[in-house]
Amino acid sequence: MKKKLIAGNWKMNGSLAANERLLRAILAELGQPACQVAVAVPSAYLAQCQALLAGSVIDLAAQDVSAQEGGAFTGEISAVMLKDFAVRYAIVGHSERRQYHGESDETVALKAQRALSSGITPIVCVGETLAEREAGRTDEVVKRQLAAVIHANGHCVSEIVVAYEPVWAIGTGKTASPEQAQQVHAVLRAQLKAASSSADRIKLLYGGSMNATNAASLLAQPDIDGGLIGGAALKAPDFLTIIATAA
Ligand code: PEP
Repeated sequence: MKKKLIAGNWKMNGSLAANERLLRAILAELGQPACQVAVAVPSAYLAQCQALLAGSVIDLAAQDVSAQEGGAFTGEISAVMLKDFAVRYAIVGHSERRQYHGESDETVALKAQRALSSGITPIVCVGETLAEREAGRTDEVVKRQLAAVIHANGHCVSEIVVAYEPVWAIGTGKTASPEQAQQVHAVLRAQLKAASSSADRIKLLYGGSMNATNAASLLAQPDIDGGLIGGAALKAPDFLTIIATAA
């Protein structure tokens, strides 16, 4: 059976002292989890977190990766650079990147491609806004976002992770109901199946105000293979509870 993946997204939070406290608190209680675990840390702290996580079961993840290979792109961080810090996953197309940095579906697809060609697994985020959901456009939006990544990555698509993150549920305390989330995950699974004979092994994560209380019912859905967790990943007890739920 496919192991679930619980990935924390720290966003632009943390400090040298806070990161050390948080990771030490998690590692002290983690033991041998039944699921895979990763933390996506701010790039400034990759080296620190790589050292803190060395020899542990927690994988290091980046929150973004450049669509460019290298060169005159001030402020950008390439996939090859991330690989220097033993980064295993890179989030691409998070709604905050799409919204505040104008990332298009094509840019996100290119980022996924750069990650894959450096041996980094992209966690491709898709999700609709509240207005799109209310207009009945959820399936159309998430399928368009995923189609760009499928188109650009061909047979490598079986190597990606997909995170369904309804924009209206991120950081708002509003969670998609397990049924709402499962319905979209089933749509995404069918799309991946049409694109790849290995689609069953692709992990589909849910993200959007997942917490220690609602994780069990979300993770019990047949097409939900884990979670991408923002706020609750910054609190060791909550993150540990979610991990323990993902057996
Ligand atoms: C996220 O940032 O990907 C996320 C899901 O955040 P939160 O859990 O805080 O809604």
